[in-house]
Amino acid sequence: MRSQRTIKDRINFQGVGLHTGAYCKVTLHPAPVDTGIVFYRPCKKSSMSTNISTVVDTTYATTIGNDRMKVRTVEHLLAVLSATGITNLTIEVEGPEIPILDGSAIEITQLILGAGIKRQKKVMPYIKILQPVFLEDDQGKVAAYPYDGRKITFRLFFKNHFLGEQLMSFDLDRGSFLKEIAPARTFGFLKDVEYYRANGLAKGGSLDNAVIFSETSIVNNSGLRFKDECVRHKILDSIGDFSLVGLPIEGHIVADKSGHKMNVKFINKLLACSDCWEVVSDQVEKAPYPAFSYSYS
Ligand SMILES: [Zn+2]
Repeated sequence: MRSQRTIKDRINFQGVGLHTGAYCKVTLHPAPVDTGIVFYRPCKKSSMSTNISTVVDTTYATTIGNDRMKVRTVEHLLAVLSATGITNLTIEVEGPEIPILDGSAIEITQLILGAGIKRQKKVMPYIKILQPVFLEDDQGKVAAYPYDGRKITFRLFFKNHFLGEQLMSFDLDRGSFLKEIAPARTFGFLKDVEYYRANGLAKGGSLDNAVIFSETSIVNNSGLRFKDECVRHKILDSIGDFSLVGLPIEGHIVADKSGHKMNVKFINKLLACSDCWEVVSDQVEKAPYPAFSYSYS
């Protein structure tokens, strides 16, 4: 059984937001047991717990919000917290978005590992997948299967493009998130850049924070960090999105061309299928998800 965790020291990072182009500052504060992952906006003295019901937009990034505050592009930060097992944290955000940094999660991962992780004296419940759950639409497919660990398999397929098919499996408990997933950057296609600009998206995007592909090559002079960097980044995004379940998932998530929108749709389907999973904890054998949210006591 895992214990709840927070960070040992306060840390901060700052930079431009990918979609808003706004300069944003983030401070991560250690938090006591049963706090959960809480976003805090100091100028409005407003805070918000993180769970699937707080997702308000999935257009090119995952945005969470309530009637008082909204934070865009939370998925990379949430992925690092999930991978490092941080369950209690207050995330102070000055600005509308989590900074994109270099487009990957490497800086945030290094900051958290540098600050140190503190194990807390309370058990962290988790969701154990008992029966397969499937979702399919014209965009892609997602499934969850019983599995002894926290594993994600992702398949990408770029039709008529040199990138072709990319497939990767990553086990969060056995693999190295720092080496295999955290360095993989956000990516996009040159043909879509004009559309992003016309629709007010990717205002902060540049070759310093995204890998851009033309029909025949990589636009960035620096090249790729991994041959299959795109699928590694999709695994990063999925780890972040799936953390919005509110509890770690023991199971194997298999995604085929999924994105933020489909991940969120799948999580809602999974949570609605209460026979397909159980919450494992030393205190409670099984309870409906909403009773847990981020208050475990
Ligand atoms: Zn991403």
